[in-house]
Amino acid sequence: MQSAQSISSLDVLNRVFGYSTFRGEQEAIINQVVAGQDALVLMPTGGGKSLCYQIPAIIRAGTGIVVSPLIALMHDQVTALKLQGVAVAFLNSSLSFQEVQEIEGQLMRGELDLLYVAPERLCQPRTLNLLHQIEVALFAIDEAHCVSQWGHDFRPEYIQLSILHEQFPKVPRIALTATADESTRKEISLRLDLDNAQLFISSFDRPNIRYRVRQKNNARAQLLQFINTEHPQDAGIVYCLSRKKVDETAHWLEEQGIKALPYHAGLSTSVRQAHQERFLREEEVVIVATVAFGMGIDKPDVRYVAHMDLPKSLESYYQETGRAGRDGLPADAWMVYGLQDVIMLRQMLSSSEAIEEVKRLEQRKLEAMLGFCEITSCRRKSLLGYFGEQQQEACGNCDNCLEPVESWEGTTEAQKALSCVFRTGQRFGVNYLIDVLRGKMTPRIEQFRHDQVSTFGIGEELSDVQWRSVFRQLMARGFLAVDMDGFGSLKLTQESRPVLRGEETIHFRKDVARAKKSGRRKKSGQTSRNFSNNSNEKVVWEALRSKRNELAQEQGVPAYIIFHDATLMEMVEYHPTTLHELSQISGVGSSKLEKYGDEFLVVLNQC
Ligand code: ADP
Ligand code: ZN
Repeated sequence: MQSAQSISSLDVLNRVFGYSTFRGEQEAIINQVVAGQDALVLMPTGGGKSLCYQIPAIIRAGTGIVVSPLIALMHDQVTALKLQGVAVAFLNSSLSFQEVQEIEGQLMRGELDLLYVAPERLCQPRTLNLLHQIEVALFAIDEAHCVSQWGHDFRPEYIQLSILHEQFPKVPRIALTATADESTRKEISLRLDLDNAQLFISSFDRPNIRYRVRQKNNARAQLLQFINTEHPQDAGIVYCLSRKKVDETAHWLEEQGIKALPYHAGLSTSVRQAHQERFLREEEVVIVATVAFGMGIDKPDVRYVAHMDLPKSLESYYQETGRAGRDGLPADAWMVYGLQDVIMLRQMLSSSEAIEEVKRLEQRKLEAMLGFCEITSCRRKSLLGYFGEQQQEACGNCDNCLEPVESWEGTTEAQKALSCVFRTGQRFGVNYLIDVLRGKMTPRIEQFRHDQVSTFGIGEELSDVQWRSVFRQLMARGFLAVDMDGFGSLKLTQESRPVLRGEETIHFRKDVARAKKSGRRKKSGQTSRNFSNNSNEKVVWEALRSKRNELAQEQGVPAYIIFHDATLMEMVEYHPTTLHELSQISGVGSSKLEKYGDEFLVVLNQC
């Protein structure tokens, strides 16, 4: 029985989806659900969750019901599945009465393999009634972390989903999420009554994402250089903290000839929708956004996520960067970070009015985020370690692995900086303190007579920039606190004392202006457009892309729904010339072969 199942699920994978092998735990999960058992699946973004319920729904008798919180996402998934020849529909508030009736008819006649439903719709008595009259193959609860009241994506309707188990005790359920932490997992299990479900936890590593944190000096120019040298024609997301900065950055990028669009909660719904739509459908669009953008963005070929400001926690960082490279091709998580970010976040924390317990939690999260920025060893190891996943080896695909960071012993400098804070009364910000250390006679220093203090002029061995680096690192590590006065005044902390007393040795990371073209990938990390050393390949690539665009426009769907970049790249590499050869390419299933095979062969045979 078991082996017959795995043959047929592999068969569906090959025939319908055009993929040759399962990834990670997909097969085990699929077998579990095909056998009628429940499953709770924790898999990172891009890990391949969808197949885990789509294939069982196709194999099992009846219709698989998929609960999904986002209408836009539902629409694109259903379009993609239809092109793959799957009998699928969705029910949500965007449909007319007539359309609803038609779909309900198909459902009653047993014509659907899969039905996507919004949670509020599913829990209506009318829908539940319908489901009692048909054969339900399974319930898939996508984005299952939406049941978590403490999470940022909480959806009250999700709480009601426990009725599925009560009303359909024999139907297997599979809940899926990319949110990894244990408390969320427990909440899902509890609220959805999934105590007996088998738990499948995948590694949360996203090996194709290259993590990099740059010292901020001129953030915009750095961003522009990053885009121009590494991703001139790619889709990317640029995150900024404030709406104002989003608008300014988008505008500025546009002036520099980049197709950049702003997205934040201050824009009207129609503008936001239009921008999101262009991001999904057109190529080479850069979206500049606040964190309001992203949930449910299923675009597989986002080649980079750039952070112009520091996220509040590593959880947010992981989630936001995770939107890059869902297709498994190389992608970048790129961030600029500097002294001002530390001051601002520290200030926000000290002025927070949250209760003590929440504040402590916020504090811990911020410390972890800052630690990640300042770390000199492998960033991936540190990131995964934070989520409880131990990696033995350094990754070889983050900035610290690729360009090892030097450190320097700076105990004396740390003492000078800290005692300067103390001598000037713990009332001044970084710039003032640096002026004192470097012995500059400014009017303010004269006014406060700080040319008289013992730390005046004792720090001439370092430049302004180097002192800023020292202060940033002292703050990031908690040796200095930022006052709540709003002026960025620095104060000593408990941790400062041992340093001042000479009981602790301090090492600093050596900040370097990494202007080298470090982004050039090694051979294996080929990006979609790295064909420059072989111009014939480039010609084929461009020709395939333009065919894909033409078809996408004709059918009004995003280009990636026709074929992913990874599929086109395989076509370039293997250059199939017959339908049979084309069918061997990953991502070419039987339905797409029939629909598009001839047209792509014409292109391939012409090149
Ligand atoms: P998730 O929902 O976990 O973020 P998806 O289900 O959207 O991920 O899958 C991410 C990408 O990986 C999709 O483009 C999908 O087609 C592809 N994919 C999934 N499983 C496989 C597989 N076994 N072989 C090749 N590609 C796969
Ligand atoms: Zn690394």
